Amino acid sequence: MSQTTLAPEPVARRRIDLLAFGPLDRLSRSSFFPLVLQVAVLLLFAAALYDGFFGTDVSSENLLTWGAFTIFFWPVILATLVLLGRAWCAVCPIGTIAAIANRFTLGLRWPRLLSNLSLSLIAFVLVLWMIRPVTEFDTVPSQTAWFFLTVATAAAATGLLFSGRVFCRHVCPISAHLAVISLVAPVSLESAPTSGLRSGPSLDVPRAQAVEACRGCTGHPCTRGTAEREGCAWGLYPAVMGAMNRYCSLCLKCVKNCPAPGTIKAVVSWPFSRLWKVSQPRPGEAFSILILMAIFLFHMAWGHGTRMPTFVHDAAPNVLPFLSAEDAMYVSVEVIGLVTMIGLYSALAVLSSKMLHARFRAVFPLFAFAYLPLVVFRALGYLTQDVLRSGGRWVTFALNQMGVSIYLDPELFGSFSDPIFEGTTYNVYAALLTVPILLGLLVAAYAAYRIARSLVADNGTACRLAAPHIALMLVIVLALYEFPYLVGYKIIGAPGLLYG
Ligand code: SF4
Ligand code: SF4
Ligand code: SF4
Repeated sequence: MSQTTLAPEPVARRRIDLLAFGPLDRLSRSSFFPLVLQVAVLLLFAAALYDGFFGTDVSSENLLTWGAFTIFFWPVILATLVLLGRAWCAVCPIGTIAAIANRFTLGLRWPRLLSNLSLSLIAFVLVLWMIRPVTEFDTVPSQTAWFFLTVATAAAATGLLFSGRVFCRHVCPISAHLAVISLVAPVSLESAPTSGLRSGPSLDVPRAQAVEACRGCTGHPCTRGTAEREGCAWGLYPAVMGAMNRYCSLCLKCVKNCPAPGTIKAVVSWPFSRLWKVSQPRPGEAFSILILMAIFLFHMAWGHGTRMPTFVHDAAPNVLPFLSAEDAMYVSVEVIGLVTMIGLYSALAVLSSKMLHARFRAVFPLFAFAYLPLVVFRALGYLTQDVLRSGGRWVTFALNQMGVSIYLDPELFGSFSDPIFEGTTYNVYAALLTVPILLGLLVAAYAAYRIARSLVADNGTACRLAAPHIALMLVIVLALYEFPYLVGYKIIGAPGLLYG
């Protein structure tokens, strides 16, 4: 592989360390954190599971179906991800079950062949993306309960058999997505200076070095643990952790174990800024982002309600006789979306690798992180729309579960259904689906430029390197995404071919 000219390393800047604040420092050293939260969430999970098996059959009133798929997978996970990275994993009941089982592990080694994100991605695509809507196990409480019981059993079994957090790292269907989206959060646990961290086999940059305090440290209790407390269950070594820590759950056990206070920091950085500092990017992470793009951009634009093209409706019943027309449409649009995203991105990765004179495999994951803002801004717009449309229903549900019989208007914060433009159906809810992604486009384009700038020394080459990716972002957002939406909301005329 030809050697790539690298940009000069930036001078490390002074950064805010949240653990330097007294209350947070005390919290990080408390034995009750995250234990109390883990126990509380585990008990809530057990109650939800019980409700799934023995509670009401009405999905919108069931703690498991509604709690898991309306509250957990959406507002809870998304909000914690964009604010605190994968902090959810510190209290997740499935992770806790895996950790408890891990205490009695047989200590087998997880097969090297599966030590990547492939199982996690396959599980997500097959189970949560394709099979869930077709079988609707997410709306039948007893089926949802069986699903979660199966997941919990799998987590316990892998914990018992294999050493380390195998289920969370390699099997959990949402693990890969949590990893990549966690990079947009402004908080991350770090100890190494961020400069010099774009390491790995990809572009011949040296691996990150431990900070000075760690070089003389014996035993490395942050990762290996002490007699009283386990080390990092995720197998991370905080001494070299920088912006790449997309597997850290912020459980803070390493901070409790570290004999050199202040070495491990909870650093605050600009949201999204870690996207262009990712070191050792993995192909599985790129695929994770492409899958998210297929769901949040392609499928949401072409496979939903008014945006479903007529020709897909017409063709669907004859495609797969063993699937209903609706399910056949759903699966077809998903597959087309996924293949389209992977194909378009791969073509540009070939181009980037030629421009960088580097191997395709090495370059493939690099620029994928730049596309993530498109997904995240789109998801945040969708979430805001959901809060405005259904916030009252969520509060009603929570109060009812606590025994308070009250009914609140779903549109608790007001109704926003009036069209913004006369003769269209484009209202505030619709605007929340189309406007945020344009902001995401700006951030994504900047991220592409910054990634390019971290790979080459001069500005002109960086712009040329980023340009094809920015062009693809424009095609994805304006042509593949905004166009069907604006047609669907009658902002622009509907061509007969697509919408009849
Ligand atoms: S990786 Fe999955 S199972 Fe593990 S803690 Fe995170 S969400 Fe839970
Ligand atoms: S325990 Fe602290 S000082 Fe020792 S290697 Fe880990 S982070 Fe460094
Ligand atoms: S690096 Fe520290 S905070 Fe992160 S998962 Fe490991 S022990 Fe927990």
